[in-house]
Amino acid sequence: MAIIVQKYGGTSVGSLSRIEAVAANIIKTRQQGHQVVVVLSAMSGETNRLLDMAYALDKQPSNRELDMLLATGEQTSIALLAIALIQRGYSAVSLLAHQIGILTDNHFGRARIKSIDNKRLLQSLEQEQIVIVAGFQGVDIEKNITTLGRGGSDTSAVAIAVTLGASECQIFTDVDGIYTADPRVVPTAKKLDCISFDEMLVMASLGAKVLHNRSVEYAMQHNLPIRVLSSFSSGNGTQVVNQNNEEWLMKRQNISSVVHQQQEVMININKITSNIEIAAIFSTLAKESIEVDMINQSFYSAQDEDAAQLICLSFTIHKRDQHKVTTLLEKVTQTHPLLEINLVENIAKLSVIGVGVTSQVGLVFSTLAQKNITISLISSSEIQISVIINEIDLIEGLTALHNAFNLTLLT
Ligand code: ADP
Ligand code: ASP
Ligand code: MG
Repeated sequence: MAIIVQKYGGTSVGSLSRIEAVAANIIKTRQQGHQVVVVLSAMSGETNRLLDMAYALDKQPSNRELDMLLATGEQTSIALLAIALIQRGYSAVSLLAHQIGILTDNHFGRARIKSIDNKRLLQSLEQEQIVIVAGFQGVDIEKNITTLGRGGSDTSAVAIAVTLGASECQIFTDVDGIYTADPRVVPTAKKLDCISFDEMLVMASLGAKVLHNRSVEYAMQHNLPIRVLSSFSSGNGTQVVNQNNEEWLMKRQNISSVVHQQQEVMININKITSNIEIAAIFSTLAKESIEVDMINQSFYSAQDEDAAQLICLSFTIHKRDQHKVTTLLEKVTQTHPLLEINLVENIAKLSVIGVGVTSQVGLVFSTLAQKNITISLISSSEIQISVIINEIDLIEGLTALHNAFNLTLLT
């Protein structure tokens, strides 16, 4: 009898009828003779609803209280699923993170799991209960409730699967696997049978929200395969595996996917006169733990001939930090009053991912140039090239890159 860990996302438990469908799926697994541990997200829309209420009261709500609030979403969904299973004659128990000792650090809103005490989980499994755990949440050493970041239930599920020695972690969602691009944006995207941890980690970090990036990181560290499946239809889904996996080795492509992300804003700062000002900007942001993504620095000549060469700095940050960053930069301009700061909101990041990307950089630029799509920022690594473009060009750019790299031909 194997222990199977299944995670169901927000859309999968988005209504009472969906909760009943999930209950039926769990019972099917149970009837195959497995012990089942289920990790749930909040019902779809619930986390956003809670966030909207908090932000209506305060533009910068307390991080601790936000986590306290957001963790309630998962409490509702786990209890409802347990009720549905018990009604069907199965023994089930719902458990919050602190009840199964999911210990995290104290970074509210983006906490990392440090350890899980599997005693309570094993005890409930021994009693033949279906165990339903609240995803996305943890507790720090001082017993404060923490959350793992948006999409973090995937990470809860992988961490629990590792703790229990499960042979894979099943992530049930609203698509039937991992695709060469977000299938909701690029309808010609193709489902992959398997993908490596490295590729998936880069995809998730660059915006493919089908898996939380830390879930992939954790699975990779512990060599635990993840399988992404649909909770709406049957099928084998996509397996995320290590690079020695024979199936992946046989099927791997130089370019595996194109990814987009709309959660960033770009900050342009003009009239910088020295590196000291740049250091002042970034150290102010770093003190508040603001993560900066893409950065570009360029020089230009001042119109006033007496002035030295000036620097223009552009970088991107996550939208959730926009208000905080604006306030911080206003403070910087009090000591550096000549700086000109503007914020560009409607941007999107496109990334091409694959082990062969470095030799194909030209194709990225020529493809976007043919579509008259302007690139504002660029970053690249061995396995990825990313560009910032105007949000309005997102679908055209993504589709063009997807076609240019022949991803529609994959089967
Ligand atoms: P859940 O609520 O189940 O956690 P998410 O919304 O977090 O689901 O993730 C599933 C979504 O991820 C899909 O609906 C899809 O739009 C999006 N997505 C983005 N990139 C990809 C991709 N490459 N393959 C599959 N889905 C993707
Ligand atoms: N409920 C959280 C969110 O909406 C966590 C999750 O769904 O994984 O992001
Ligand atoms: Mg998700």
